Amino acid sequence: MDLSFDAETRAFQQEVRAFLAEQLTPDIREATARTTTVWVEKDVVMEWHRRLYKKGWVGYFWPKEYGGTGWTPTQQYIFLQECAQAGAPRLIPMSLRYVGPVIFTFGTQEQKDFFLPRILSGEHYWCQGYSEPGAGSDLASLKMRAVREGDEYVLNGSKIWTTNAHVSDWIFCLVRTDNTGKKQEGISFVLVDLKTPGIKIDPIITLGLDHEVNQVFFDDVRIPVSNRVGAEGQGWDYGKFLLEFERAGGASGEYKAAIQKLKAMGAAQRSDGAPLIADPYFRSEIAKLEIGVMGLEMTERRIMSSVAAGQRPGPEGSVMSATGVEINQRISELAIEAMDYYAAPLPPPSLTGMVNDDEYPGPSYGAAAMGKYLNKRAASIYGGAKEIQREIISKAVLHL
Ligand SMILES: Cc1cc2nc3c(=O)[nH]c(=O)nc-3n(C[C@H](O)[C@H](O)[C@H](O)COP(=O)(O)OP(=O)(O)OC[C@H]3O[C@@H](n4cnc5c(N)ncnc54)[C@H](O)[C@@H]3O)c2cc1C
Repeated sequence: MDLSFDAETRAFQQEVRAFLAEQLTPDIREATARTTTVWVEKDVVMEWHRRLYKKGWVGYFWPKEYGGTGWTPTQQYIFLQECAQAGAPRLIPMSLRYVGPVIFTFGTQEQKDFFLPRILSGEHYWCQGYSEPGAGSDLASLKMRAVREGDEYVLNGSKIWTTNAHVSDWIFCLVRTDNTGKKQEGISFVLVDLKTPGIKIDPIITLGLDHEVNQVFFDDVRIPVSNRVGAEGQGWDYGKFLLEFERAGGASGEYKAAIQKLKAMGAAQRSDGAPLIADPYFRSEIAKLEIGVMGLEMTERRIMSSVAAGQRPGPEGSVMSATGVEINQRISELAIEAMDYYAAPLPPPSLTGMVNDDEYPGPSYGAAAMGKYLNKRAASIYGGAKEIQREIISKAVLHL
């Protein structure tokens, strides 16, 4: 992948910067900075999504034929880095990075025609129904049944930890259509309108007091067979394809921006009468993070390059996931260390407006530190537990 920026690429970078300067409003930026949860609140992120859609940039890594930008890996890289540096919210991946590529790769023409434009416009907001009670790391043990009756499947069972199910329009699910054979066989990939009768969504409140995840119950839920993607019983393959995109989701730009904020925090906070940023321990911890992000960025660029060449992200995505989680968590720990006793007060459940909230006794830049720290504990497990990612790296990448 050629990363030397020629004149054309530099012009593209300027175009992205100009767009961000005009369209990324202070409201969107501030709400993004205050967010403690994995994904920025729906109304904020969808406002940003719509602005990108209007510009034709929302499908930033989709092929042109499906309404994407058709950008080169270098353009995608620049776009993501500039968005992160400017403080834009990360677009919701369940729609754009997960189910979208599954539909445009394995879906029927009808599915492509119906779903892809609605994903791009933001009309459909998706959530991911993979995990079940008893089927997380060992996903192939999933039990949710889809029994065929004529032109319909009847769904019974439950999905758990479903991020943003309570604000979603559609859910994609791995379901069991057959119980015979190996457990990876007999799984199918289906698309379910969350308004279908028989669906109940219960909240799960996390350690950080956020309502981000849910348990979704399916009781005799009827969906058309035409909502199955690909062949019956082949869902495991499509599900794994999707996970490669999930694990390879580039976040180096965000980590770089978060490290910049950490440095600013270090410059504002005092330690033994001097700015914390001058403290050798703090400096060396920041340096370790920066080195980690540089390594991550290289892997990210390699993966972008192979996807642009028509290949799958591959198991290397697990390297990004495992390393990224450690960097992400360490950033949140250092922020707690930097805020010292001002990190202790746990902010109220909704952080909206928290920056100016009189209840928080410390400087505004530390108001979200504890919420972020608590939320990031879950990063060791979501998207695949880190032990599982290491297992994939050892087997599929290093061939040990
Ligand atoms: C905040 C959050 C959001 C999530 N969002 C979604 C979502 O939107 N959609 C969705 O489908 N799922 C979601 N998940 C679920 C997530 O994918 C699972 O939690 C994850 O796959 C682990 O499964 P589990 O919770 O059943 O834990 P388990 O699989 O029971 O694992 C428990 C522990 O045992 C370890 N372990 C298990 N097997 C092995 C092994 N073979 N070798 C070594 N160690 C092992 C794990 O590493 C872990 O530490 C989310 C989870 C969280 C926490």
